Amino acid sequence: MKIIIQKFGGTSVSTKERRSMAAEKVLAAQKQGYSPVVVVSAMGRKGEPYATDTLLSLIDANFKNTNLIASDLLMSCGEVISTVVMSDELNNNNLECIPLLGGQAGIITDENFSKADVLRIDTDRLLDLLKGNKIPIVAGFQGISEKGFITTLGRGGSDTTAALLGAAVKAEKIEIYTDVDGIMTADPRIVKNASLIEKISYNEVFQFAEQGAKVIHPRAVEIAAKANIPLVIKNTLNNCDGTIINNTGSSDCTNIITGITHMSNRTQISILLSNNANNDEYHNIFSILANNNISIDLINVFPKENIFTIDADKKDKFDFIMKNLNLIYTSEDNCSKISLIGSGMRGVPGVMARILKALAKEKIEVLQTADSHTTIWCLVKSKFTIAAINALHNEFNL
Ligand code: ADP
Ligand code: MG
Repeated sequence: MKIIIQKFGGTSVSTKERRSMAAEKVLAAQKQGYSPVVVVSAMGRKGEPYATDTLLSLIDANFKNTNLIASDLLMSCGEVISTVVMSDELNNNNLECIPLLGGQAGIITDENFSKADVLRIDTDRLLDLLKGNKIPIVAGFQGISEKGFITTLGRGGSDTTAALLGAAVKAEKIEIYTDVDGIMTADPRIVKNASLIEKISYNEVFQFAEQGAKVIHPRAVEIAAKANIPLVIKNTLNNCDGTIINNTGSSDCTNIITGITHMSNRTQISILLSNNANNDEYHNIFSILANNNISIDLINVFPKENIFTIDADKKDKFDFIMKNLNLIYTSEDNCSKISLIGSGMRGVPGVMARILKALAKEKIEVLQTADSHTTIWCLVKSKFTIAAINALHNEFNL
């Protein structure tokens, strides 16, 4: 049996017309001899009736935070509705399908509600359905605990469901359907002439996803890579070939940079030794932050100064800790971390120089930089994000 996983994101299941286009993809896979397993997200995006945040707004914040069983159950509803309406659509196309909750599809998790970890996947029911030529339509983003409580898997959960199921049933490939043609050299909402990347390695996509490109969740990439199953990102609304993600790497190795992404909502922190001369806590700051679950990034340690960034959402907690320790620091709010990713930059001199020159030409101040073999990061004020990404996209002819 040749199994294919086909995951449809929120916008792909949001209207009848789109669901009908999604059904065509399932039909086509079946015609090619595949046994499809379909995974669906909640209909629509943030603010729409069945989106996760809308559902959560139906209950009191206090109840939400204290009754985790209830809030996970509520959050799981969007995907449950999608499985049923998608089954209806497939049924209209004479495809026999069975809507399933994550738990019914065998996804067993711990009880770490709202970000549950998958303990195992019992594939019996899925495989039985496939053998009987039925198409399972699985609600993404959810599982069930051993005690029978519905759990959710955290951000990007439906991508993760697709990858987990693919690995468990040894699928031949995992297709992720969305509202863009595939992985592009930059978010097409930011760079109008961004181009499609036809082939890319797990590693590079993982970097993309980790650094903010929302098109696929990093956990899904990790799971697919480990199982060595090709991931294909495609557009539900057309027949474009999309992006193939596997081990073989980028098609165009002559490019130094494969693509650019960014993460907004960063705050830059700077702590000077001279301002904290008699405070022993100065030297413990990194472990104190770690113990308080504040992750830091773009870390530059100098003999007389430490500079790093934190997520702006953690700023209040950070302020509180620093105040308690009597540590003095300065901060720069509203920053964006721009990431230029490409395994082609390894050992190529002058890449940073080109980046800095291109940004200087646009009068964009660079607050901080860092680099690894395959990524260069630049911190800029968020108001310059779009201009910076476009300038760099031009500079490297992406
Ligand atoms: P879905 O609801 O289908 O899961 P997402 O909103 O999670 O869709 O992901 C698709 C979006 O990712 C696109 O609409 C696009 O704006 C954004 N995106 C960000 N970076 C990229 C990129 N490099 N290539 C393609 N899309 C990107
Ligand atoms: Mg998504």
